[in-house]
Order: sequence, then structure tokens, then C-alpha cells
Amino acid sequence: MHSLEDYRPIVGNDVYADIHRRARKLYPKHYVHINSTYAGGGVAEMLQSLIPLMNNTGIDTGWRVLAGNADFFNTTKKFHNGLQGEDVNLTEVKKHLYVTQNEDFATYTHIMHECVVVHDPQPLPLVKFYKKKQPWVWRCHIDITHPNAELWDFLAEFIIRYDAMIISNESYRKDLPIEQRVFPPAIDPLSAKNMDLAPMLVRKNLDRFGVGTDKPLLVQISRFDKWKDPLGVVRAFMKVKQEVDCRLVLCGSMAADDPEGEVIYKHVEEEARPHLESGDLILIQFESNVLVNALQRSATVLLQKSLREGFGLTVTEGLWKGKPVVSTRVGGIPLQITDGVNGLLVDPGDDDAFAEAILRALRDPDWAAELGRNGKETVREKFLMTRLMSDYLDLMCDLTC
Ligand code: UDP
Repeated sequence: MHSLEDYRPIVGNDVYADIHRRARKLYPKHYVHINSTYAGGGVAEMLQSLIPLMNNTGIDTGWRVLAGNADFFNTTKKFHNGLQGEDVNLTEVKKHLYVTQNEDFATYTHIMHECVVVHDPQPLPLVKFYKKKQPWVWRCHIDITHPNAELWDFLAEFIIRYDAMIISNESYRKDLPIEQRVFPPAIDPLSAKNMDLAPMLVRKNLDRFGVGTDKPLLVQISRFDKWKDPLGVVRAFMKVKQEVDCRLVLCGSMAADDPEGEVIYKHVEEEARPHLESGDLILIQFESNVLVNALQRSATVLLQKSLREGFGLTVTEGLWKGKPVVSTRVGGIPLQITDGVNGLLVDPGDDDAFAEAILRALRDPDWAAELGRNGKETVREKFLMTRLMSDYLDLMCDLTC
């Protein structure tokens, strides 16, 4: 486990001392975060670093994971899609499933903490099933610019029981009578996913999945999710390949709280079939932080072709590796990338523009390298875990000191 001291060479003495100064007022208190999976997706990714680091800094912080069965996660995935604007058939059965699973969890999960942070819609109703003795915070990681109206009304009944709501982007603010704060997500530069890797280890990981680097390598790391547009990535790759011989890797593990992954994977496999045998298109379904790190470090260009994106941690990870990242003007991605300065942005769903942006980066390696260097500086300034710790420490202090 890392200690805050380990981050000092990366973030500097001022940031290090500042976190300890903010933490001092919170020492006797005990906090807890609740989400719905230990692994898979950006929320688990952040909690895996944030929770141990908070404890290491002297702030007692627990982590509980909501237990849910397949029906529950099928329903909450539909709610997730609905919050991103898709139609939802909001039946009484779905509402009942959603609420009772939370009620059951509340009966055997005892909360005696000074503040509770609940992540995303899955555990949102929990607040209703406790005698509220402390502030509750709802941390929404989703792009809620245009949620399905009926679903939003249903969920708002729970949201307004919270004392504060955290969103990833100023533009996600809602007309609600509770405090709303903006915390952009962050990555851990020392985690297995982001730390420097020895070239031998990178090679070993690529070899294991037959990923050659004899031609330019395009990589998208994402759950197999329609909002990540993996089919659009395959289409754009086919256009690029007509001009420049290259290889595409789509790497996506399955998240326990995302039941749609298998179906989307099958569609992608179908679309990719003509290129699978040649080894120029490689699909990987394997959960490994070191593999993700190795792929990001080996990529010539990193891709994130999202159609909706609360924030897009994979973009941050790619920028941190100093790589040119080609992505879309959607959700939290423009917070990270300024087109032509530290990466490339095109409109979501525009396969031609996406392919064109990849080609520009492939054809001008010096410029691509400059984009990568600028991207790394952006992450150092704004999106490292120490900044997220400060955001949480300030909020906890305001709510509980
Ligand atoms: N991820 C991973 N393996 C995969 C696919 C994704 O470890 O095969 C990680 C990825 O590196 C990132 C997180 O899952 O840390 C995805 O976060 P993001 O915000 O990009 O999207 P989300 O999945 O939360 O919608």
C-alpha cells in the first residue's frame, strides 16, 4: 500500500503539507463510502486508491459494496442508461426491485459513521432506510445533462434526502434544493495502472495477448458498453487502415454491475470478424491493471470514442502516459482535452472525423508527441488523486466539523 509520502516527489511539498493540514480537523471522525462494485469501471478504480490513501493519511474511511442480484443490476443499468438520456420503461416491478434491494442491504449494513458518501444510482435509495444521524452525500459520476424526465422525478425523491450532491462537471448542475459541488475525477499515478513499467514487463503483457508492435497500434480501453461506441471504433479503424496499415486493440473487462457487456461484446466480435484472423484487430476481455497500463504505454494513438461520458478516466490515464488521445466532445472529456493542444476531439458519432483525427496523429509523430507532453502536464495540474483527496477533505470538514 502506498502512503501519501510516496506522492511527494510527484506533487511537491506544498500539496503534501496542504493535505495534512486539511486532514487535521477530521482525525477523530469516521467516514464511509458505498458503491456497487469492487472492480470494473471508473468508480471502483478511484475508490481502490482513494480509500486506502485516506486511511493512510489518518482519516478513518470505510468502504461498503451494495449486494445486488442479476435482476437488480439489470434494472440499475437501465436507470444508468436512462440518466444518460435513453428511454426507460419505468415499471412498478423495476421500482420495487430497486428499492427493496436497498432496503434489505440497509437492514444488515450498520452505519455509525460521521458522514456517508453514496456513489451513483445503485445505492441511492439507501438514505431512505436509515434513521439519518449524519450528513449524507450523493456522488453522481454520470452525465446527467439530459436525463429521462420520469426517471429523474422518481430518483429525485431520494436525492433530495441528501445533504449534498457531487457532480463531475459544472454543466451537470440540477435544479435541486441541495448543495451541489463539482469534483472532477482523478487517477492514482502510483497504481499498477499508471505507474512506470519496465519495458520487459510491457512486452510480456503484450505477448500474452499476441499484440505485436510491428505497425502503429491504436488502443481503446473501455467496458463493452454501447456508450463507449466500440462498433464506431471498429468502423473508424477500417477507414484508417485503408490509408495507413495499423492494428487495433479493444480491451474491455466486464464490470459486475454492468450486465450488458456480453451482448455488446458479441456485436463487436461480429463486426470485427474480417480482421480478427489477421491479428490486426484484437479483442481482449481480461481484467488486469498492468495489462491496461502496458497497452496504454505501447499505443501509438489512444482512442476514447464515447457517445456519453460522465468524465472518462481512460482519457486521463492516456494523457498521463504522454500519448496522443483521440476522443469525443462529450460529457467530461472536454474538461481534459483541448482540441489540438493536448489531444484531439471530434463530435460524438462522427466516424469519418474520428478516423481523420487518428490519421493526423499517425502522420505527424512530432506533433503527436507534443500533444502527449501537454496532456501529461494537464493531468499533473488537475487530475491527480491528491487533488481529489483535498476536495473530499474540504467537503467532509464543511459537513462535519
Ligand atoms: N478499465 C479496466 N479494464 C478494462 C476496461 C476499463 O481496467 O478492460 C478501467 C479503465 O482503465 C478506467 C475505468 O475502468 O480506469 C473506466 O473508467 P471510465 O471513467 O473511463 O469509464 P466507466 O467505465 O466508469 O464508464
